Amino acid sequence: MARHSGGRAWYGKVVGAALGVTVLAVGASVWTAQADPTGGATPETSVSARPDGGVEPVDMTIAHASDRGANGVNITIDDGPDPAWTPQVLDLLREFGAKATFCMTGTQAQAHPDLVKEVVAAGHRLCDHSVSHDTAMDRKSEAYQSKEILDAERMITEASGGVRPMYYRAPGGAFTPHSRKVAASRGMRPLGWNVDTKDFERPGADAIVATVERELHNGPTILFHDAGGDRAQTVEALRRILPWLRERGYSFGFPVR
Ligand SMILES: [Zn+2]
Repeated sequence: MARHSGGRAWYGKVVGAALGVTVLAVGASVWTAQADPTGGATPETSVSARPDGGVEPVDMTIAHASDRGANGVNITIDDGPDPAWTPQVLDLLREFGAKATFCMTGTQAQAHPDLVKEVVAAGHRLCDHSVSHDTAMDRKSEAYQSKEILDAERMITEASGGVRPMYYRAPGGAFTPHSRKVAASRGMRPLGWNVDTKDFERPGADAIVATVERELHNGPTILFHDAGGDRAQTVEALRRILPWLRERGYSFGFPVR
């Protein structure tokens, strides 16, 4: 199921207001380059609707930066929601005052609408992670890609009670120019990651924690999972990582849009 690789090859868009240019993001320099001089989180909690009822499109480049600027970290939680693990993750986020972005599959959202509503009620953001988590999506037809993205958007929005996903993360990072364009046209910013904790492979909580500590210089967006198997190691790792981040002065933010 997992094809969680390739995150580092992505390019990011520098949002430094004074620059306004797109550059290739390389290694540790990204961290500094992504700094948002304003540093503030946006109060926005859902995609803004135009007066005509349509949806404002967003940039189709893959986002990695945090809306909290240089000290921001984006906790991202994929593949749920799951009744065994999502409530435990929500408890920890609440305990440590952290906000996160939940990349949900349409199938899981539709199966557990109460959990989707809990995620939203706690102030977290939703991200479309396709209907069926097909990590080979980038080799399928454009019609198939569109359906996977747009059906999931609808399923998640229905499950949440009307709160739309603000991002799109391709399963396994299998983005295509077409899928990014479709998502962006629906107000869902393509979302990458900088730190792959590989929690999906169950390497042990120690290893998950060590990966975050070692790779956080890559950038602010950290990838975890709350479904797809036994996620006890993820829960244990978050219990240690969230206070570790806070003690070091990081601020929990959301990916830029
Ligand atoms: Zn996934």
